[in-house]
Amino acid sequence: MTKLAKGMQDNQEHLLKTLKLYIPDLWSAKAHTASFQNTRSGYLRNRISMLSIVWGILIILWVPFDLYYLPAHQDSSIVIARVLLGAALFFIARINNQQTSLRHAQWCMSLMVIGLNLFYLYSMHQLDYPIVYSGFEYGYTLLPILHVAILTILPVTLKESLGLLAITAGTQLFVDFQAQRLFTPENLADYWLQNVLAVMVIWSQLSKLSMLMRLYRQATLDPLTGIYNRRMLLQLAQKSLISCDIKGAPFSVLLFDIDKFKRINDTWGHGAGDKVLRGFTDFMQSQIRKTDLFGRYGGEEFILFLPRCNADMAETIADRMLNHIRRLELPIGFNETRLKITTCIGIASFLQGDTLSSMIERADRALYECKDSGRDCSRFHPVGYQYQGNERRKALA
Ligand code: GH3
Ligand code: MG
Ligand code: MG
Repeated sequence: MTKLAKGMQDNQEHLLKTLKLYIPDLWSAKAHTASFQNTRSGYLRNRISMLSIVWGILIILWVPFDLYYLPAHQDSSIVIARVLLGAALFFIARINNQQTSLRHAQWCMSLMVIGLNLFYLYSMHQLDYPIVYSGFEYGYTLLPILHVAILTILPVTLKESLGLLAITAGTQLFVDFQAQRLFTPENLADYWLQNVLAVMVIWSQLSKLSMLMRLYRQATLDPLTGIYNRRMLLQLAQKSLISCDIKGAPFSVLLFDIDKFKRINDTWGHGAGDKVLRGFTDFMQSQIRKTDLFGRYGGEEFILFLPRCNADMAETIADRMLNHIRRLELPIGFNETRLKITTCIGIASFLQGDTLSSMIERADRALYECKDSGRDCSRFHPVGYQYQGNERRKALA
């Protein structure tokens, strides 16, 4: 294969890989990690609150115009509906911040759209389904367009977006059915306009979501290996440790250091060293449980946090890992050359009075004991960090 053909094939493979990575993420929140869900739910909550408050104010500010322009037999019911909708939107803005889960944000988002559409449904009914393309009442027929347009600021997945748009589309079709003008030639232009708008809204939402994902990845993942970086790893481990401590479950940490890694760089170059780091990471990811937390601590050092694992289990796991790692043959991109590596593993388990950093400190000391004993082995550091009184919870938080 020529260099050019190989380059094109690599590009195609890269594109396919990127699409495979992004499509599930853009389609549904189920594909997201718990920590990204948490981050996105924060963004969503901010925007839902903002939208609900702004919309609540605008809805009520229109009351004097209704009172002035609408016929007397229609204005009072619509004004009451406006005030109720405004109050409902303020209520949504309030409960929206009471819980941090993504599910809660999704509910509040749906409630907001349902509220707006109920108002549209009710007002159209009260105004006898206005059709004349002029006059004060005509403004009400434009509400569905506004309901689609305001969704543009939400970084939602395609599934969530289609769900929200379906509420507005369903309401509008129902109104048109009631008015006996479903799919009339005049309405087709409106449907067309609305569909074009919906496509642009979805595009804008997905761009926001993918930008958020990209920023999130850059801030939390190690660019070389794609696993958690140190900051994110410690943040997640802290949460996991607190949860284990509350449940009285054990918690262990394994600190890995690749032996004589500098020699690989010196002999084969940094590119080869990078491939070894990636190969080691892929291997480790194939070995760990879903609840374990694995990330790059720095350079050729990695950490594996093992929730619900006591010291004995951690030692067994470390020995098993050492055996597997000895047998690994990692490609370095030069012909068929493959390199073998060994590692040192420092182990520590949670003891009364520990904090995350005191555990890592012990694992680090254990790691140095491995190096002193000739490498390619694991050591457990049994000494607990002595802590005073009830300050322990403060240190964990
Ligand atoms: P020891 O057995 O005592 O751990 O020796 P070592 O050579 O593994 O450790 P040392 O701390 O002396 O060197 C670590 C090397 O890792 C030095 C640094 O250039 C290399 N390194 C750190 N990050 C990267 C990286 O992202 N890519 C590559 N290729 N090398 C890296
Ligand atoms: Mg090192
Ligand atoms: Mg090393």
